[in-house]
Amino acid sequence: MNETIFSKIIRKEIPANIVYEDDLCLAFKDITPQAPTHILLIPKKPLERIDSAKMEDQTLLGHLLLTVKKVAAEANLNNGYRVVINNGNDGGQTVNHLHLHILGDRQMQWPPG
Ligand code: 5GP
Repeated sequence: MNETIFSKIIRKEIPANIVYEDDLCLAFKDITPQAPTHILLIPKKPLERIDSAKMEDQTLLGHLLLTVKKVAAEANLNNGYRVVINNGNDGGQTVNHLHLHILGDRQMQWPPG
C-alpha cells in the first residue's frame, strides 16, 4: 500500500498528540475532532482498510478492539463512546491506513450521517 500521513506519525516524523502506544498499535488525537474526545487508533502494520485484513490479522484486529477499551478508559469515557471504522469511498474513508475512531464526551446520534 502507499504511504500515508499515518505512517509518518508512526515513525514520529510528524507530530501527533499520542495517547497510547504499544508494539502493535498507536492512538493519537484526531486533528479535526468530531466530538470533545476524538482519538484515532491505528495498527502499526500498514493495512489499507478493514477489507484488506486477512486471517493472519485476526490477532491484530482483536488486539485493536481490546485496546479501544484501554484507550477509552484512560480518556475517562465512562459514560460510553462510539467506535467507527470507515471503509473505502462509500464508507467515507479519507486516509488509506486502517484506523478506528473513538468518539466520546457527547451524546451520539443514530443513524450516523
Ligand atoms: P477517515 O475519514 O479516513 O475515516 O478518517 C481520517 C481521520 O484522520 C480524519 O478524522 C482526519 O481528521 C484525521 N487526520 C487526517 N490527517 C491527520 C493528521 O495529520 N493528524 C491527525 N492527528 N489526524 C489526521
